Amino acid sequence: MTVAAPPLFAFDNTYVRDLEGLYVAWQGAVAPDPRLVVLNEGLAAELGVDPALLRQPGGLAVLAGSVAPEGAEPVAQAYAGHQFGGYSPRLGDGRALLLGEVHDDQGRRRDIHLKGSGRTPFARGGDGKAALGPMLREYVIAEAMHALGVPTTRSLAVVATGEHIARDTLLPGAVLARVAASHLRVGTFQYASAHSDPTLLRRLADHAIARHHPEAAAADQPALALLQGVADVQADLIARWMHVGFIHGVMNTDNMTISGETIDYGPCAFMDAYDPATVFSSIDHGGRYSYGNQPGIAQWDLARLAEALLPLLDPDVDTAVAQATTVLDGFAARYQQRWDEGMRAKLGLGEARPGDDDLVADLLALLQAQAIDWTTWFRALARDLRGEADAARGLAVDIAAADAWLARWRARVDAPAVAADAMDRVNPVYIPRNHLVEEALAAATDGDEAPFHALLDVLAQPFTARPGLERYTEPGPTGGRPYRTFCGT
Ligand code: AMP
Ligand code: MG
Repeated sequence: MTVAAPPLFAFDNTYVRDLEGLYVAWQGAVAPDPRLVVLNEGLAAELGVDPALLRQPGGLAVLAGSVAPEGAEPVAQAYAGHQFGGYSPRLGDGRALLLGEVHDDQGRRRDIHLKGSGRTPFARGGDGKAALGPMLREYVIAEAMHALGVPTTRSLAVVATGEHIARDTLLPGAVLARVAASHLRVGTFQYASAHSDPTLLRRLADHAIARHHPEAAAADQPALALLQGVADVQADLIARWMHVGFIHGVMNTDNMTISGETIDYGPCAFMDAYDPATVFSSIDHGGRYSYGNQPGIAQWDLARLAEALLPLLDPDVDTAVAQATTVLDGFAARYQQRWDEGMRAKLGLGEARPGDDDLVADLLALLQAQAIDWTTWFRALARDLRGEADAARGLAVDIAAADAWLARWRARVDAPAVAADAMDRVNPVYIPRNHLVEEALAAATDGDEAPFHALLDVLAQPFTARPGLERYTEPGPTGGRPYRTFCGT
């Protein structure tokens, strides 16, 4: 790679400095004809880079992976992972590069990362490339999640490379520039734990603690405190997913971060009608990563992190296992607490009261039995409180059952006007509806990027209803074939 002038980012690359053994220095493939499809100007500004520079040919070459900017030390990161429960000791970035780390305008360390930038030593049989549709999909869903208040990696840009890549058909290729608190995963620890260098796991734990869970450094057992810190942020994260109806779709241990950010938007999708068994991914035959399984799977993934960390816990294995088990058991309680808090907020309830659990459980049963759209329902409840009597009950098939639940709920709400406003601040009106995402990606793949930009604009303000945007609130067509997503390739 040559060096682009002028300098774009003020890099400070701790991963490369601290963690030799966990990466391979590598360079991106040259994109023959890079074209900027979308740039996140606000995020660029946060990172201290002038968006105008990113739009210039030198900037585009950087975003496409063709050229390493000054100060970058591009590496493909090594990690292992359990994929659908089966262990792969060596996954790693097969088609991605970490360019380096920068401090943002709030002093937070952020990774600048490229996805789709060409084959690496971890590519196995893959071509190292990514198609435009899946990269735009990750771009829009990550930004939607951010706007929804869910911790997530962010999307800086998508650049079309100007080449076509072979999938089922020939598709336009693209590179996503992604920004993350880090790319440390449970799978990074699994890889380090199995490595011949006995110092690697310790160095990784120290690095992760300094970066994401600094309170653990002062603990009696820093590695145990790290496990606790990750379990806590993941419990919080999964509860947020559940509240907005998000289904990640591929919660492999290489797709679970140490930071607590959502990462890797492949076959993810949002649930329409409430059903805990909802699965969208075409490869998830057993429903392992269904909506309702997500908390349990997160705990399973954390158990794999605990196993990887065991050598850093108590020297006595039985004691170490007992310590880790206590943390893992605590995950369920923390998740439940976060879920309950979030559900009370969605329902306009304040402090917990006896009977709330039943109210929520009975609502879930009602929504499932009548296949009511999750997002529409909670927004309708606020309208119900404002006196629109049919807003919620009109969504039900069995009106009597809905009325019975609504009467109990209204009696539980203290100050309806205040509650309705508070509910509208946590219950989105706009989410990335599956059919809208598909429509936007199909159009972009055919050369019309307008629907994608329109969708992005709508999703940037998910809690504020705006006239003229009604079609963005509607659930997808029902009765047709079930919606299917494919692993982002
Ligand atoms: P993902 O499904 O994006 O989380 O990827 C899972 C693993 O497959 C990671 O190790 C990726 O780097 C690798 N991978 C996915 N697609 C490709 C590709 N087209 N070329 C090389 N490696 C890939
Ligand atoms: Mg992944």
